[in-house]
Amino acid sequence: MLNKSIPKYLKHEAEIALSFYPELKEVPIEFKLTRKMSSSVMKAQPKLGSLFKKRNKRNYVILISRHFDIQNRKFHTRSIPQNVLIGWLGHELGHVMDYQNRSGLNLIRFGLCYLFSESFVIKAEQTADHYAIRHHMKDYILETKNYILSHTGLSDRYKEKIKRLYTSPEQVLEFVNEKMN
Ligand SMILES: [Zn+2]
Repeated sequence: MLNKSIPKYLKHEAEIALSFYPELKEVPIEFKLTRKMSSSVMKAQPKLGSLFKKRNKRNYVILISRHFDIQNRKFHTRSIPQNVLIGWLGHELGHVMDYQNRSGLNLIRFGLCYLFSESFVIKAEQTADHYAIRHHMKDYILETKNYILSHTGLSDRYKEKIKRLYTSPEQVLEFVNEKMN
């Protein structure tokens, strides 16, 4: 995969997640380890310099923090179970699929709305999950959600945030049922 840059740290997991998205084969994506981001573990973004290039020339970066703090407790991303990491990466690739359908101007608007509107965040996160589910990653997505929601080490505040903004495991199953009927 010449157009993908993946650190050894997550190479296996990223390659499995990518295998569910044949449409992204030609799309350049850099998986990049960073210092911790404020409360998010991973984040997918278009690279600014490529925003107004043709869609097939656009570049994306998926930022991944090596560890993250939640209420003063430090978690190592590498200690998260493998299937949960694959689900997490699959969700981020769902964001990339969504970005691929948007113009440069629309992406700028997307970035601003994401910052200022909670209902917009809910919609965007749901869209990313739906892409992952349509790409046969349902089981991984469910594992990721159940892991976060049942993880005793994570604070209630963080879990509250996840419940408020992200699709629940029940909604995932509902979406799968609707799609089948
Ligand atoms: Zn997301």
